[in-house]
Amino acid sequence: MEDNKEEIISKNFIEQEIDKDLSEGVYNHVQTRFPPEPNGYLHIGHAKSILLNYGLAKKYGGKFNLRFDDTNPTKEKTEFVESIIEDVKWLGAEFDDRLYFASNYFQEMYDCAVLLIKKGKAFVCDLTADEIREYRGDFKTPGKESPYRNRSVEENLKMFEEMKDGKYKDGEKVLRARIDMSSPNINMRDPVIYRVARMTHHNTGDTWCIYPMYDFAHPIEDAIEHITHSICTLEFEDHRPLYDWVVKECEFENPPRQIEFAKLYLTNVVTGKRYIKKLVEDNIVDGWEDPRLVSIAALRRRGYTPESLRMFVDLVGVSKANSSVDYAMLEYCIREDLKLKRPRMMAILDPIKLVIDNYPEDTTEYLDVANNLENPELGERKVPFGKELYIEREDFMEEPIKKYFRLFPGNEVRLMNAYFVTCTGCEKDENGNVTVVHCTYDPETKSGSGFEGRKVKGTIHWVAASTAQKVECRLYENIVDEEKGKLNEDGSLNLNPNSLTVLKNCYVEPSFEGARAYDSYQFVRNGFFCVDCKDSTPEHLVFNRIVSLKSSFKIGK
Ligand code: ATP
Ligand code: MG
Repeated sequence: MEDNKEEIISKNFIEQEIDKDLSEGVYNHVQTRFPPEPNGYLHIGHAKSILLNYGLAKKYGGKFNLRFDDTNPTKEKTEFVESIIEDVKWLGAEFDDRLYFASNYFQEMYDCAVLLIKKGKAFVCDLTADEIREYRGDFKTPGKESPYRNRSVEENLKMFEEMKDGKYKDGEKVLRARIDMSSPNINMRDPVIYRVARMTHHNTGDTWCIYPMYDFAHPIEDAIEHITHSICTLEFEDHRPLYDWVVKECEFENPPRQIEFAKLYLTNVVTGKRYIKKLVEDNIVDGWEDPRLVSIAALRRRGYTPESLRMFVDLVGVSKANSSVDYAMLEYCIREDLKLKRPRMMAILDPIKLVIDNYPEDTTEYLDVANNLENPELGERKVPFGKELYIEREDFMEEPIKKYFRLFPGNEVRLMNAYFVTCTGCEKDENGNVTVVHCTYDPETKSGSGFEGRKVKGTIHWVAASTAQKVECRLYENIVDEEKGKLNEDGSLNLNPNSLTVLKNCYVEPSFEGARAYDSYQFVRNGFFCVDCKDSTPEHLVFNRIVSLKSSFKIGK
């Protein structure tokens, strides 16, 4: 089914480029990659990049690599390597045995640098970082050549080797490409390609004390892996001439080409690492996987499925223009994905007791309930029913407002999958709060019995009190609201105080026995919920609301 769907979607600009390359014989295969730096958790934007690259490889019968771009040891950690692998697998982007680390190519990168030196295309420079910046010029001013630019090949080779052998202090010397200080593209003004930095690398340890710069390393990594289309985001567009220069001057055969697309931005979410770090440190969120965040781990914990994220990425498409996508689109995708797949269960989030005064005592009736009316394949289950039930507090009003069709004294409603009941009154505590609602039922009106005597306007859901299981439900709203301003004047986040509501006295039917982390359900009228992977136990189930049902009356708002 999915393959058919792909065929009817018109081709995006990247596919058009690939078609052209294949028809012109520039490449005879397609090879893509996802190249994360292991310096944090992946987020929804990365999911887009992963699924785009994987999807292209799959579509063209090519291959997809997962490659860690681990050339900068300062911020990289094994913890992130592991979480990234888990996330990529979870998304369904199969890389088989093609898991690579750029750090395994350090020797080849070094050899490439030596080749450039020999060709007179690279030189060792003694200018300080500040001086290099100063000499570089800007959009209006051409750059000035470094006084070290014309060192002999022999001297450069010797000094570069000394850089590698640890003869110089960190920052004392750099290797620079020798391109063009007057280029209108500042990236081409003799960019630094190697620096001296004594840092222990998570993979290579202390083997190296020189590390390649991203713009030099990345094209080499792609070329070594025979990548054909190196897809990256728009901010690298100005770096493309340098990318092309590196693969050409390092003499790679059939070099890869870079194609840029716009980053994915979502409204009303926080993606900046700096902000998330602060939210985590200030204990405002429960770690990087708090269900209000949009790291892939957070989305998974909230109950998003790989299918829903794939649908989202397809809907968003690829573009050359930066824009923001409404968070509601993500919600749309998860609703679409789950609505036919998951059983619809009854759960009461804000309970109040309903007593059916004319129903026999100590009797439990088992009603046959379809798991999903729109998908008979999900079968049926038995739901216990009895004299005492829990219903939602908002489903009773002693003095009904206009157009209120639920329970109020004298009104008859349908208890979903059960009987018609007529409200007879309520009990209150000393403060006037309703504690129990009373009603009577009509045994003739049993659901499924074919009763057609009369109709009622309201249908409410319920859970039998004697067999109910008490659970916790967590309801979420966006952590920031862009309409109200995402940032305060001091630059801090303008947080939504209602982003989390914890409801500890919810009741569910007994059919949740065996519910495990990440299992998800529709709770009728209340939304889609997912068993929390961190805090839920069989004795104390904790559910995250993934998303509300669009048309439902929202509780907790
Ligand atoms: P961030 O700046 O959000 O921390 P990053 O660019 O530093 O992300 P990398 O590990 O360098 O993260 O990125 C890996 C890949 O993911 C790159 O190819 C990058 O272009 C892509 N990518 C990063 N953010 C997005 C985004 N918002 N939308 C689409 N692709 C993205
Ligand atoms: Mg980056």
